[in-house]
Amino acid sequence: MTENQLSARVNELEESQTIGMAKLCRELAEKGLDVINLSLGEPDFDTPVHIRDAAKKAIDEGYTHYPPVAGFNELRKVISEKFKRENNLDYTPAQVVVSTGAKQAIANAVLSLVNKDEEVIIPVPYWVSYIEIVKLAEGKPVFIPTTMENNFKITPQQLEKAITPKTRMFMFSSPCNPTGSVYTKEELAALVKVFEKYENVYILSDEIYEHINYDGKHESIAQFASIADRVIVVNGVSKSFAMTGWRIGYIGASLKIAQACDKMQGQFTSGASSVSQKAAEAALSNGLTSTREMRDAFLRRRNLMLALLRKIPHIKVNEPKGAFYVFPDVSFFLGKSDGETKINNVHDL
Ligand code: PMP
Repeated sequence: MTENQLSARVNELEESQTIGMAKLCRELAEKGLDVINLSLGEPDFDTPVHIRDAAKKAIDEGYTHYPPVAGFNELRKVISEKFKRENNLDYTPAQVVVSTGAKQAIANAVLSLVNKDEEVIIPVPYWVSYIEIVKLAEGKPVFIPTTMENNFKITPQQLEKAITPKTRMFMFSSPCNPTGSVYTKEELAALVKVFEKYENVYILSDEIYEHINYDGKHESIAQFASIADRVIVVNGVSKSFAMTGWRIGYIGASLKIAQACDKMQGQFTSGASSVSQKAAEAALSNGLTSTREMRDAFLRRRNLMLALLRKIPHIKVNEPKGAFYVFPDVSFFLGKSDGETKINNVHDL
């Protein structure tokens, strides 16, 4: 079979570079090299014991059938309570949709809202899957550049300049993958002033790193009543509870959007794994002790990483306030050579 026989859709899709890097790490490790694998964005901790126990119990209690497409009512209720308790957001259980990871939650929302050729504004750098999902929806990604000097955050002026009559959605993560940037409440309020003027623009707020925040309190852009109806909050248990393999993410959104995502999901996956949903229910209803311990470990590692990077001449770093990433500026090295090997791009480096 040739590439031509596959759909244009899949041919145009980029393969995940992170997964490629993880593969390379495994190959080098198999050759006996001592490799520290910093490729995939996942906690190296095991899922806390009480969550694993809840899953074992769920299997024994017969949670082995199809779940309701949008998630078990108990879990949607626990998520609705979480939104109120931790974010002061009012989403009823009916406004919550549970998906197979935040990734599917994002795909549901984009496929439910974006039409062909409509524009989706994405600040750069972004989590790589965003643009591929937009491409799958036949939308057009529009980029807003950021700089290290501004801690990789956009300004209201930049946002306003990027909006056109074709803009359908703005999507961003805070804390951000890959920069670790965290928008403050004041910064979000300034962006909201712009969104207030453009009533057709939806805001997808990816808050999956909510609990990996080193400085302050997590702020959701959905807290601003003037635009709350147009915000889709995406979250999940992967990063906060070391549950990447369980594949549970969720959204809170207006009822209409939640129902659309439910409909979309009904044709793709019929809902997230029932056992994983029971595990997520335990994760979200038993406090944040282990989450905070992991956050503290990530903070120690961030500080170590920053100190080590700052020792390397010509590498510039800012201080990420959340998530578990650093986004160093290595532009000094591009085009340089040791006489033998030329560094053409970051992959070469
Ligand atoms: N959003 C961002 C910004 C992420 O970094 C990731 C995971 N790398 C996801 C969403 C997807 O998370 P999940 O495991 O819940 O699909």
